[in-house]
Amino acid sequence: MTPFSFQSIGIVHSPFKEKFGIPRQPGLAPSSKAVLELLPPFNVPDAVNGLDQFSHIWVVFVFHETAQRGWTPTVRPPRLGGNERMGVFATRSTHRPNPIGLSVVELDRIEVNGEKVLLHLKNIDLLDGTPVLDIKPYIPYSDALPQANAGFAASAPERIMTVSFDSAIAEQLADLPDLKQLIIDVLSFDPRPAYKVEKSEDRVYGMAIGDKDVKFIIDKNKLRVIGL
Ligand code: SAM
Repeated sequence: MTPFSFQSIGIVHSPFKEKFGIPRQPGLAPSSKAVLELLPPFNVPDAVNGLDQFSHIWVVFVFHETAQRGWTPTVRPPRLGGNERMGVFATRSTHRPNPIGLSVVELDRIEVNGEKVLLHLKNIDLLDGTPVLDIKPYIPYSDALPQANAGFAASAPERIMTVSFDSAIAEQLADLPDLKQLIIDVLSFDPRPAYKVEKSEDRVYGMAIGDKDVKFIIDKNKLRVIGL
């Protein structure tokens, strides 16, 4: 087959600095925000003319962080507890023959600032530095199919953790309500890989959000943030 070659039309600036803890799909962490910056020569306002009429967009991107790891025909979706295998094409796994991701996200606004064309996004599942291949408007009459059969992913994952903060951390976050909400949004889903959950009760976990290294411990369904 003829190989295709694509170039990045943009790059994502996201508070998620590492894979661990990023929501497993868009739409799960409403407080998450990112900026999609168009790259030259695509950073022209004309290229997004009319896009601001749409509340949501499809972002087609490269799983750049894991692209080198290749793919396997079957993977273990977290939704199935991480132990059952499914065909890669039956999942949204990052380990695909072509490491391409597809996320529908909220388009908050478009900012044109000198040479920069910036799309402000919300409710994302994208790693910082994600290369973007394409952007398309989300069109509900065609793209939203509420009656569709969604197999093993029929409903959204549940927020199974109650998230609390050590008093010193709560004080630190008093002036950072957006960050606090983002931490709650993300951690309430339990970021641990499904197949490791049983073994990990005494461990201190860390997740890089923005410029913070969020440290937390988990006891059953209670998650406590102990460091920032
Ligand atoms: N919504 C997309 C899709 O369905 O194609 C992505 C789904 S994938 C299960 C979401 C996960 O991909 C995130 O939780 C994060 O761990 C990972 N991820 C996000 N951006 C990435 C990137 N640039 N490189 C590698 N992994 C990434």
